[in-house]
Amino acid sequence: MKLLWNKIWGLKVQNKVKHLVWKACKNSLPTKLNLVRRKVITDGRCDSCKQQHEDVTHALYGCPALDDFWKQTKTWNHGVLKKFISFLDLFDFILAGNSEVELFAMVIWNLWNRRNNLKLGKPSHPLDKVLEHSREQLLESHSSTLSLPIHRQQQAATWTTPEQ
Ligand SMILES: [Zn+2]
Repeated sequence: MKLLWNKIWGLKVQNKVKHLVWKACKNSLPTKLNLVRRKVITDGRCDSCKQQHEDVTHALYGCPALDDFWKQTKTWNHGVLKKFISFLDLFDFILAGNSEVELFAMVIWNLWNRRNNLKLGKPSHPLDKVLEHSREQLLESHSSTLSLPIHRQQQAATWTTPEQ
């Protein structure tokens, strides 16, 4: 687990994204099934499909309501993803294949937030825009981390000893 955490921490994504992936790997997201286990609610069925219990894998890629979304994303083979019973194994597989891991993490973050927004009746990105939106967010976070050292350099270069 420590090795996995180091790999997640090394991803060039925002900390909130790393934390969410880590929680998903540890099965500590407040999915409906986890809330039933904690005796917070009694019905663990998924709000989207209303058929199956909502565990982490169901909420993020197993739900039939997400089928079209995952099928349209050619980077990851949905048929293969659906075979994973635990998110931990799935993420390990994505890491091992080095298949756009950061984009995958961003997509997972967006899908989880979309799920929460829908539950709260808040506006959220339509499913067919999630991938595009995730790519944009990734570009933004990369450009902001890249611009930081340049900014520091500029500051250092322009600083001169104040005159009396
Ligand atoms: Zn479902």
